[in-house]
Amino acid sequence: MQQPPDTDPLNPPQRTLMGPGPSEVHPRVLRIMSAPLIGHLDSAFIEIMDEVQELLRYTFQTDNRWTIPVSGTGSASMETAFGNLVEPGDTVLVPTNGYFGDRMESMAERAGGEVVHVDAPWGEPLDPDDVAAAFDEHDPDVFGFVHAETSTGVLQPQVPELTSIAHEHDAYVIADCVTSLGGVELRVDEWGIDVAYSGGQKCLSCPPGASPLTLNDRAMEKVLSRDTDVRSWYLDLSLLEGYWGEERSYHHTAPITNVYALREALQLVAEEGLEARWERHREMATELKEGLEEMGLEMNPDDEFWLPSLNAVRVPDGVDDGKLLAELQEEHDLEIASGLGDLEGEILRIGCMGYSARTPNIQFVLSALEEALANQGYEA
Ligand SMILES: *Cc1c(COP(=O)(O)O)cnc(C)c1O
Repeated sequence: MQQPPDTDPLNPPQRTLMGPGPSEVHPRVLRIMSAPLIGHLDSAFIEIMDEVQELLRYTFQTDNRWTIPVSGTGSASMETAFGNLVEPGDTVLVPTNGYFGDRMESMAERAGGEVVHVDAPWGEPLDPDDVAAAFDEHDPDVFGFVHAETSTGVLQPQVPELTSIAHEHDAYVIADCVTSLGGVELRVDEWGIDVAYSGGQKCLSCPPGASPLTLNDRAMEKVLSRDTDVRSWYLDLSLLEGYWGEERSYHHTAPITNVYALREALQLVAEEGLEARWERHREMATELKEGLEEMGLEMNPDDEFWLPSLNAVRVPDGVDDGKLLAELQEEHDLEIASGLGDLEGEILRIGCMGYSARTPNIQFVLSALEEALANQGYEA
């Protein structure tokens, strides 16, 4: 008979997580994840669902009724947004300025959309004039943009200008807020965003698995008056409405533990206060950025578009980024990341998100990085 495989209990290493996500999980969130399961239709769970929705509205700064956690990671909430809003034949305008703009394109195409672009290089935000020109040329039905581009460390400014352009053309705006929600200023209603989605494991410091999504009534009307069914059954909002809306009837089993975790993570946001939390991210990231600049390193984006939750710094000449990351992991149990796509080999990406955005972590990254760079002959 076959012997059972190695039965040692799982014992993952203790890392300091300062990459583009996941960020470190707050101890209170970890603790709640060992709470006993209850049923996904239990009245006690329904109360937790209500609380999650209310806390999400606060964190998104919205009054939207349609505010839910989607089962799955940030890409699931992203696919819910594009898969429901985009109908076959719709023209969809997406950005070219980063990795997640490319992902928007793939999702919009799979939903049957005709994709056109507003062009901007990786490392720069979208210029409202270019967005207006793309609207005049293509008259899109749906416009997507990334508020905080994790691949480039660029924060998109002038969001209200972008949404005004879209609304003058009766288009719907989908904003990727995965790396901004709970970390940098975001005001869904005031800024005129129709649909916003996010994830747990970035600035909310929650494990991935239940991902915030909010839609206003206008966007939900488009979804509910589609001529064709949403291609995904699992992510179809007209069906999910049955569970997260008034009725609370079974659609799929909610990831109960992830919903507990999100509830606790959002409760921590409320206790800290949203604006205080934005300010903490800015302060901690400033400490990091100043430390990096003191070492002679250069930030990739202009200061104007600097994204506090994700710091993209240029790899200095003569330094091998792969070797550097390996050394940080092996010698310091520290995770940061290298560049993606157009910026592969050119930047390091250092997150400053949620529970990871605190002084001891920042100081640790700076000293470990200084040592690892010195080992490659770089002089600070
Ligand atoms: C991380 C991220 C996503 C995808 O989220 P996953 O949880 O990895 O599925 C989407 N957009 C942005 C901007 C992100 O940073």
